[in-house]
Amino acid sequence: MGDMVVVRKEGLYCVPGQFYIDPWRPVERAVITHAHGDHARYGHGHYLSAEAGVNVLKSRLGDISIDGVAYGERVVHNGVAISLHPAGHVLGSAQVRMECGGEVWVASGDYKVEPDKTCAPFEPVRCDTFITESTFGLPIYRWEPEQQILDEINAWWRRNAEAGRCSVVFAYAFGKAQRILSGLDPSIGPIVCHGAVEPLNRVYRAGGVALPETRMVSEVDKADLRRAIVVAPPSASGSPWMKRFGDYSDAFASGWMLLRGARRRRGVDRGFVLSDHADWPGLMSAIKATEAGRVIVTHGSIPVLVRWLCQNGLDAAGFDTEYGDEEEDESTPPAGRAAAQEAEAPAGEADA
Ligand SMILES: [Zn+2]
Ligand SMILES: [Zn+2]
Repeated sequence: MGDMVVVRKEGLYCVPGQFYIDPWRPVERAVITHAHGDHARYGHGHYLSAEAGVNVLKSRLGDISIDGVAYGERVVHNGVAISLHPAGHVLGSAQVRMECGGEVWVASGDYKVEPDKTCAPFEPVRCDTFITESTFGLPIYRWEPEQQILDEINAWWRRNAEAGRCSVVFAYAFGKAQRILSGLDPSIGPIVCHGAVEPLNRVYRAGGVALPETRMVSEVDKADLRRAIVVAPPSASGSPWMKRFGDYSDAFASGWMLLRGARRRRGVDRGFVLSDHADWPGLMSAIKATEAGRVIVTHGSIPVLVRWLCQNGLDAAGFDTEYGDEEEDESTPPAGRAAAQEAEAPAGEADA
């Protein structure tokens, strides 16, 4: 049998199953790993996703034809047994397991190994071939435990509140924003969310995720804003919407904040290194846990990760995809090439 999954111009294609995974062009049947814009696009005839992700997809894509399956439940399509398994990335994110003729392939989508309070934790799935993302696939990327970063955010907010200054944290509206909210200490002051963040908060709460009380800016007195933390998407930075917060302190929360240049280009006071993707040790442990003999690497640091895997005795190659070209997930490096080049140098040292 040939490869079970190949790249076509429309996206990753399961040959025997005759369906696509996170296709970037309109297709008849799409299995969607999660609702970030570069993985979940408009215009497919039919969508299949994890049950926990259905309402997120509907809130972002509107009235689509979609079926949800519980994590681990098997559905057979053209002789391929499909099941979805938690990817630990955002609410409803899934890895796609495909079994056909005794062979098993798993496509990871985006994933994060460290558990958090806003989605089901990453589940390693054994397979023959693992298709993995590599957004942070360089040895320099190592995350501190999430609780430490959340503690730092609360301490920064508390200091600003005591000084009578509003705190503004920029974070991607879907996923990162809710993760930060889940860790905020509401005793410090009011929590204000941008209009792009609040609809997703509602979907998370409806999905059983506990988030503290959040308000729209219009619901908070001007005096109280000086003790508030504001969670807003990066696109709000520099917009007229920011004027009402006066002399605020701002921060950006992203794995890319590990790079000093990325923080400088964002022009924010603080960078919090908080990522929804696996770091280098996370990628290593996830790949190992699959026991796959063959690994195919998608968006991120394809050459570095492929070379490292080959040196470690695995059959590895890259897939060219169109993921990571919308700025609403960390799959898109800030300032693209500049950040990538900045990251290359230390990676070379770590290889030696
Ligand atoms: Zn994503
Ligand atoms: Zn991605």
